[in-house]
Amino acid sequence: MTQDLRCEEVIEKLLEYLDRELDTETEHALARHMETCRACFTRAEFERKLRARVSEAGKAKAPESLRRRVRTIIEHY
Ligand SMILES: [Zn+2]
Repeated sequence: MTQDLRCEEVIEKLLEYLDRELDTETEHALARHMETCRACFTRAEFERKLRARVSEAGKAKAPESLRRRVRTIIEHY
């Protein structure tokens, strides 16, 4: 049983989605939402790229200040 998600719910689950920690049903619901919701799609892409960059930086050494700045960017996005 799937139902349409609201944007807030998508945002809320976005990190788990990117980590593939959601159950298949929820994952599909998010994917489907993003097919029709440009805002959430853009947000997911943004988050994905950001995380890629952070994990790259993390290989060198994860600076706490960077992580905090990243959070700030996300919150103000
Ligand atoms: Zn949305």
